[in-house]
Order: sequence, then structure tokens, then C-alpha cells
Amino acid sequence: MSLPASLPIPDEVLDIARTLEGAGYETWCVGGALRDTLLEHPHSDYDLATAATPAQVQALFKRTAPVGEKYGTVGVLDRHRVVHEVTTFRQDVATDGRHAVVSFGVSIDDDLARRDFTINALAYHPIRHDWRDPFRGEPDIRHGVVRAVGDAAQRFREDYLRILRALRFAARFRFSIEPDTWAAAVAGADGLTRLSAERVRDEWFKGLASAHSVAELVKLWRESGAAAHLIPELERVSSELLDRASAVGPSRRDPILLTALLSADPAATLRRLKASGAEIDRVAAIAAGPESPAGPDDTSVRRWLAATGRAADDLLAIWSMRHGGTPPWAESVAGIRGRGEPLTRGALAIGGSDLQEIGATGKRIGEILAALLERVLDDPSLNTRESLLALAREML
Ligand code: ATP
Ligand code: MG
Repeated sequence: MSLPASLPIPDEVLDIARTLEGAGYETWCVGGALRDTLLEHPHSDYDLATAATPAQVQALFKRTAPVGEKYGTVGVLDRHRVVHEVTTFRQDVATDGRHAVVSFGVSIDDDLARRDFTINALAYHPIRHDWRDPFRGEPDIRHGVVRAVGDAAQRFREDYLRILRALRFAARFRFSIEPDTWAAAVAGADGLTRLSAERVRDEWFKGLASAHSVAELVKLWRESGAAAHLIPELERVSSELLDRASAVGPSRRDPILLTALLSADPAATLRRLKASGAEIDRVAAIAAGPESPAGPDDTSVRRWLAATGRAADDLLAIWSMRHGGTPPWAESVAGIRGRGEPLTRGALAIGGSDLQEIGATGKRIGEILAALLERVLDDPSLNTRESLLALAREML
């Protein structure tokens, strides 16, 4: 492979580039989509880099959306209201390992120079079919190499997230990390603790979702020192468990579920990574379990489904990853759900007001409903109005 004579750029992107170029602003396709196209991987939209300032971009298009104006990115909406990112050529004038102060008014080559890896630092001109590859990203893509643009140690000091990005790209494309880049990553790993929890979490989740193999990603996090500094729980995962986790293909990967599998205390891990309350609740419910019903019989499985509630499907998936294969009670779960058997108080044939009518009051109402649910979990055929009212009268 060398750089192809031309690329099939979608009309919507081409229209935006034509408008910008027509107004006198040089405009190039840049970023991950070029890399993915050359690798023949499915990819997201082409990002555009332009000489126009954000204000000039906004003035040229009827519909725009603020995406990251501080960093020069304006979203341009096409006629299907799909957003395309247009970013002004920029240079990072000051960096502190976490943020950059940017300046505009530079060339495409300057813009490529501030990008992280050679594989991400190509540009393609969608109208002139011209390429720019000043850091020789094309041979690195061809040979499968993640290599920092310029001095790796300095590039990681500017933004430590690049270390995690290197691990992610290596695991996603099965690329190797060029020795100087790898050495700089290992040497700079202690700087990772300066990153915000949100950026680390996004990288970790993206890494899990895109890795060719989860085991490979975790291996890279461990060997680079990223795990020790950011998610030390990963140090203790057995290789057997990693192999199982890797059996799930990227299209079916759920980063929350995988974190629950790989961490001994997933709620603490996700709290530290500032995940959402819903995500933390979800893994806390998984950790609370129980992992499996007391037995594979329908009654035990109904009790387990009632106890675990919305965590049941996560627990089934975790069991499969932990032990391999399908849990022996999966069939019973399917049967119980298929027959629509009641598993919650809300599914009982009578409610609190029915109990009031027969004379129950106060907290006794809740106690009776709980006792009735117990009976119905043992025997779903009891879930009729008559049977439950008869049972309730005995409990008054
Ligand atoms: P993905 O498939 O994950 O979207 P990508 O390469 O498109 O991969 P983005 O995060 O979308 O990654 O960023 C787009 C481009 O911006 C990258 O290809 C790279 O050139 C540049 N870039 C992104 N993050 C950084 C960073 N932290 N440091 C330097 N350049 C970066
Ligand atoms: Mg991208």
C-alpha cells in the first residue's frame, strides 16, 4: 500500500469542504477516519481541518452547533442534520499535561505536528486529492506501528492522555508500539495520575469497547504502569479470566460489565473514575448478587430473579464470562419470563388497597404483600385475586 490516488469522500463532507475552499479557506480531511480508511476498517465521519477561524466557519454555514469552540471546533450540520466537525488549523502554544492553550492562524503542517501519533497525523485534500504525510504515518499504518509525532517523552508530558491513547490504538489494531514511544510511555506513566477521572474513564471504556482482545489491552495497561497508577484492580486479574473476557467480540462488549468482571470492587472503581450514578448502581447490584440461584429449579430461580431484579441479566452475562458457557439455570429463566410469572409485588393480583378493604392497616400491609410474594414465588398458580385474598385473610 502507498497512499491511494483518491478517497471516496461522502458528498456531505465534500460540500462543506467546497464551501470553505470556495470562500478562500484551505481545507483538509484529517484524523482517525483517514487512518481507518487506509486500514480498511469501518470508520466514523471524516473530520475537516481548515484555515477558516471558528467565526468564519459559523458565518459560512446556515446551521452550526458549538462543539469545542475554545479548541477551534465547530459542528456543521448537513441537510440531514448530521453534524460534521470542522476544526481550525491550530497549534498548542502551552500545555500542562492535561489541557492545551491553542493558537489559530497556522498551516496544515503545523496542525499535523501537534497531533499525537504518526498514524493520526495524515491529511488528504478532498478536492485536489493531495496528501500530506510529513511524519510518515502511511508506512507506520502499513507496518502496524504506533509512533509518537516528534519526541515521545515531550509529547506525553504535554498531554498524558496520549499514553492511554497509544495503548488503545495498539490493542484495537493489533499494532506494536515503537520502542522509543513505549519507553517514554513507561517512563511517563506516573504523570497519568494528573489526568481528570473523566478523561481516564472515557479512555478506559473506549479501550474496552474497541480492543481486538481485552486481554491484550489489560496487558498493555499493566506493562506500561497505567494499571498500577489508575486502575490497580487490574493487576490481580487472572489470565484465565482475561481470556474469557476476551472471548466476547467488540460488537457485543459492554465496558461497564467488563469493569464489573475485572475489578474485585467495581463500585469503588467506577466511583473513583467518576462514572454516573446509574453506572455505579448497576455494578453495585452485580457485586451484591447473589451470583447464582440456590439451585437450578424454577422456585430457586424465581427467588433469585426476584432478589436480583434488574441485575439478573448482568449476572447471567458475568457468570458466562467467569465460568464459560451458559449458566445451567438460563433455561429456567427463559421459561419463567416466557410464562410471565410474577416476580415483584407490583405483579401480584392484589395490592395495598385490596388489603385495606379487608381490614389491614399500617406497616402490616407491606408485610402481608411481602409474604404473599414469597408464596407466589413458590407457586405462581396462587397469583389470582381469590387465592391471594384468602391467604391474606389468614394473615390478618
Ligand atoms: P477514534 O477512532 O477513537 O475516534 P481518532 O484518531 O479519530 O480515533 P479522536 O479522539 O476522534 O481520535 O481525535 C481525532 C484526531 O485528533 C486524532 O486522530 C488525532 O490526530 C488528534 N488528537 C486527538 N486527541 C489528541 C491528543 N490528546 N493529542 C494529540 N492529538 C490528538
Ligand atoms: Mg475520531
